[in-house]
Amino acid sequence: MTVRQECGQERGQEEDLSRPPVPVSGCPTCTELAIRRDDARAWCDRSAETDADVLLRRHLRAEHYFT
Ligand SMILES: [Zn+2]
Repeated sequence: MTVRQECGQERGQEEDLSRPPVPVSGCPTCTELAIRRDDARAWCDRSAETDADVLLRRHLRAEHYFT
């Protein structure tokens, strides 16, 4: 396995206005969406990553009442 890319993203800037939603530990839906997002990120699939972010954010709002 030599497929290891950085997606051209620089680390170190944690304070992003478009911060990704944080999954709630112990919630199967959050876990599934977080895994999907990590998967997409690993493949540098930005659209799938954004997709998972949107779904996770929507789920958080509906199920966990996060802002
Ligand atoms: Zn959840």
